[in-house]
Amino acid sequence: MKYIQHHYLRKTTLVFLFIAVLHGSLSAQKPRKNIQNLVSDTIDVLHYNINLNIINLSQKTIGGFTDLTIVPKLNNTSKFSLDLLALTVDSIKYNNSILTTFSHNDTVIKINLPGSIGLTDTFHLKVYYHGQPVEDPSTWGGFYFTPDSTYAYNLGVGFESVPHNFGRVWFPCLDDFVDRAFYDCHIRVKNSNSVVCGGTLISTINNGDGTSTYNWKLNNSIPTYLASVAVANLVPVSDVFNGMNGAIPIKIYTRPQDTLKAKTSFINLKQILSIFENRFGPYKWERAGYVGVPFNSGAMEHATNIAYPNACITGTLDYEYLYAHELSHHWFGDLTTCASADDMWINEGWASFCETIFTEGLYGNTSYKNYVKTNHYNVLTTAHLDDAGYRALYGIPLQYTYGTTVYKKGSDVITTLRNYMGDTKFFNSVKALLNTYSYKDISTVQFRDFLSINSGINLNDFFQTWVYSPGFPHFSIDSITPYSGPGGNYKVYVKQKLFHMPTYGNSNKVEVTFMNNNWEKYTDTISFSGQTGNKICNVPFIPDFVMMDLEEKTADATTDYYRTLKTNGNHTFPNANFAVDVQNISDSLFIRVEHNWVAPDPLQSPSSEIYRISNSRYWKIDGIFAGNASLKGRFNYVKSGFESSLLPATYSADSIILLYRKNAGEDWRIIAFTKTGGVNVGNLYCENMQPGEYTFGIGKPFQSGINSNATNNISLKVFPNPSNTEFNIQYSVKENSEIRIFDSNSKIIDTLKLEIGENTIKWNPKNHSKGTYFIELISKGNVILQNKVIYLK
Ligand SMILES: [Zn+2]
Repeated sequence: MKYIQHHYLRKTTLVFLFIAVLHGSLSAQKPRKNIQNLVSDTIDVLHYNINLNIINLSQKTIGGFTDLTIVPKLNNTSKFSLDLLALTVDSIKYNNSILTTFSHNDTVIKINLPGSIGLTDTFHLKVYYHGQPVEDPSTWGGFYFTPDSTYAYNLGVGFESVPHNFGRVWFPCLDDFVDRAFYDCHIRVKNSNSVVCGGTLISTINNGDGTSTYNWKLNNSIPTYLASVAVANLVPVSDVFNGMNGAIPIKIYTRPQDTLKAKTSFINLKQILSIFENRFGPYKWERAGYVGVPFNSGAMEHATNIAYPNACITGTLDYEYLYAHELSHHWFGDLTTCASADDMWINEGWASFCETIFTEGLYGNTSYKNYVKTNHYNVLTTAHLDDAGYRALYGIPLQYTYGTTVYKKGSDVITTLRNYMGDTKFFNSVKALLNTYSYKDISTVQFRDFLSINSGINLNDFFQTWVYSPGFPHFSIDSITPYSGPGGNYKVYVKQKLFHMPTYGNSNKVEVTFMNNNWEKYTDTISFSGQTGNKICNVPFIPDFVMMDLEEKTADATTDYYRTLKTNGNHTFPNANFAVDVQNISDSLFIRVEHNWVAPDPLQSPSSEIYRISNSRYWKIDGIFAGNASLKGRFNYVKSGFESSLLPATYSADSIILLYRKNAGEDWRIIAFTKTGGVNVGNLYCENMQPGEYTFGIGKPFQSGINSNATNNISLKVFPNPSNTEFNIQYSVKENSEIRIFDSNSKIIDTLKLEIGENTIKWNPKNHSKGTYFIELISKGNVILQNKVIYLK
């Protein structure tokens, strides 16, 4: 399944999310959602024969019976449960005899058989039922009737329900990811409507009473959430795909007025099927199919019968990514299914990854790279906000099963896995996995171990870092030194930092690319574990600089951009929060900007000019641009974003400064800059930009040249300084003000209210550790004066 991200439909999604939140707060009062029939260890349903009247669309009712073919998993079975939500059970037959020993509490049917049965005793259970099937409280998933009575259809996943599987809203079943069964559906409707289910339409019978019965058969086993039905006036757009395993019919069912649009919107469907077959092996289903439904917030990958928004059948290619995503589930999710909600990245992370595969196959490498980079930027920017924290892919809490982490970070991590294993081993192993696990479920551990054994690459460390840990590693080049010993001529030292990740990752593989003034490039791979690593590299030229992960093959805590510039003017670097203004260009420039989402290396020695240094980011700028142009770099600050701890809430941006160092061998220093912008957002500009590292810091107030708050008769003096006991703070203010005291991590540790006039107050830091503290006088929300003090203890 997938939400639609297009702006024109986003309103719907936001409304839906809002409703989901509201319902979430009420969920404790709704026992229906919290009772679940866990994965059954008692029985295995082999087949569902679903017989329903879906005639009364205005009353929103269904009725009929489902005949389940069941085999016990245990000897001497006599009791078991089935899921059926909100519908009324009329009667149950056990092998054609009426069974009276059952109960139904609106959620679970508890069955007591008249006697114990053994492992070979396959039996039938016919459940007769009727009622109004329900939607998920979130409004995403369940069974829908349109207000104008033109449509009835299901979406097999309930966003908010536990478990998420939602077969139980329209037939009695074992509603989990693990139990797979075959399906026959016999659906009776008014003659003005038709019926589309998964599989193949076997026959349509006119009952002679104004109704017809549609008989559909699905020849491959699926879990309950992939079963589907849609009732409306629907007509097929038909084609044939000549796949690896032979001809596969394509049928896209739409409203009659949408058929021409569907032909255009799905024009590349066969090519996309070929792209996926080429990468992942044959399409193993009897039909490739979609059905247009009046649901605007996304699509659902029902096996061979994907529920697809009518609103996305536009006659354009705008939603190709959406139907490609759902189609790819016929490898990831439908064919090989996550064993539990904890493993959902196996369904949705891979389907999101398949969006990059479809983009690469259909639109080429540049489009692919942009898709991957944009996704990575979105992951770093939004996943922790959408899912309330930095989360590991595996074992995500149920309310975030269908969240940004599983989808987008999932895709990000799988792209990293692809590059880690290399294309040949990666795709071969994935094909083998899908073949071995066809029509089966798979856990994350099984997934990891299969790929490891099949490829010969031990993926334990990779999975520990990228699948089982929250956050991200961050990789950077520390230094490069000439090396005259055997095996090479340069030694490159690399470093790992942590971005919301608890421990250093091991068995890391990173690419380093050397470049010289003739634009020659040489790339090597460095493997290392823990915080640091190094490699002696034999570079076929004298490099001018070396870059970490030039092609962003690893989804670490960096977003980079490189480009060749040939013209004067302003050039932006998307996802790097940077721009450059070029003048007097005389030759092409190569500029690479690496935006690092971690704290820069700390100051090596204390500075009287630099009070604090950013704890959230720095830039590294490399390139070939010396001498043949003048470059003005633009660094963007955002108080509510990256600079939230450098510039706390009431902190004026007057003290923000631009720091520079050529490389890790130098200490940070203030570099000449100019500033535009105000308290919340703005830019620092550096004339004559040079290669090296840049970050923000806090210096003396008004160092940035903005001095709007300077006021006479305001003073602040702290003594003794340093002190091993307490500090006297002598001040003079003309209006109500306060003192804020920060530690070196920019955390406010004390706030003192000041009276108007001249006075001296004491600050005793005895409950804090020794070190450097910053005392700031704040008036009307602006930092007026600042002092650095040292507590010796
Ligand atoms: Zn999906």
